[in-house]
Amino acid sequence: MGTSISIELSTHKKTKPLANERGFGTYFSDHMFIMDYAEGQGWYNPRVVPYQPISLDPAAKVFHYGQTIFEGLKAYKTGDGRVLLFRPRKNMERLNRSNDRLGVPHIDEDLALEALNALIKVDQDWIPEESGHSLYIRPYVIATQPALGVDASAEYKFMIIMSPVGNYYPEGVNPVKIYVENEYVRAVRGGVGEAKTAGNYAASLKAQEIAKQKGYSQVLWLDGVHRKYVEEVGSMNVFFKINGVVYTPALNGSILNGITRSSIIQLLRDWGLTVEETAISIEELFAAAQSGALEEAFGTGTAAVISPIGELNWKDEKAVIGGGVTGEISGKLYVTLTGIQRGLVPDPFGWMVEVEL
Ligand SMILES: *Cc1c(COP(=O)(O)O)cnc(C)c1O
Repeated sequence: MGTSISIELSTHKKTKPLANERGFGTYFSDHMFIMDYAEGQGWYNPRVVPYQPISLDPAAKVFHYGQTIFEGLKAYKTGDGRVLLFRPRKNMERLNRSNDRLGVPHIDEDLALEALNALIKVDQDWIPEESGHSLYIRPYVIATQPALGVDASAEYKFMIIMSPVGNYYPEGVNPVKIYVENEYVRAVRGGVGEAKTAGNYAASLKAQEIAKQKGYSQVLWLDGVHRKYVEEVGSMNVFFKINGVVYTPALNGSILNGITRSSIIQLLRDWGLTVEETAISIEELFAAAQSGALEEAFGTGTAAVISPIGELNWKDEKAVIGGGVTGEISGKLYVTLTGIQRGLVPDPFGWMVEVEL
């Protein structure tokens, strides 16, 4: 199969949003990438085309059985005009692990990265230059076979769309209040919590809404079996610094294996801190928060990078963490990781990949 990517340029350039209008994921660049799959044929027709609506049969399996995967990463423009991606191969590897879990055929990771490069090259003037801004990239797969039988689709589309995004924290990094969710769960071991698939997010919306109504930004998810062990915060991985040691829930099958998570573990260990990936019970955590032993807590993910937690509410009891201000490690991680991503500080682990323009 030929894998050369065809390129159809848009004849109409969209008006770009102003820096302060960007928000998150509301504007999309001029082009997109599409590749199709048919059983017996494999992936075919990789192409960059003008950004456009797609037409799907109402019976397409994705609408009925949720066979879909997504990824999320960012492109950053450096001061000297280069374009950098943060560990993009990790995203394509995870895409294939998610594909595996959802019965979706593998995608050649080199081809996916080539597609990404081709798309960014065509839309390079969409990459914001302001500090804290970037081009958010959303690769995803949907099952398109028009059939209601419950089995894996025989047809798919793999697409990539891109959105210029603003600063996640227009007023600077500030701690948020988190509600510990005791009833609903995000995912269970043996289910699809480890896959970046739509169902996990649909399952999280109701609890998120209730927390918002109570004045909290996000929920802290507990495990699906005992409601005892901490799993994630919102759609981010979570870290806690207790008496000088950093803890994060061990990957147990229901936790998403974040690329920011693994990078932060590597950075912290490089700085000489002890990081333990282990089961963390909410009881012990909350006691540590109340006694002051919990020095810092933060969520991690591509969108926000680091999101400090300033307060926990568990069963309507509250505990303030670190005086409600951003902790030293949280702040240092944010500055270091965003600095590496923007090419402002050395990249000791060779994480950044330069896009060929
Ligand atoms: C994407 C995601 C994360 C963070 O992963 P990154 O690779 O760091 O962006 C964490 N938890 C959930 C549920 C996610 O969907």
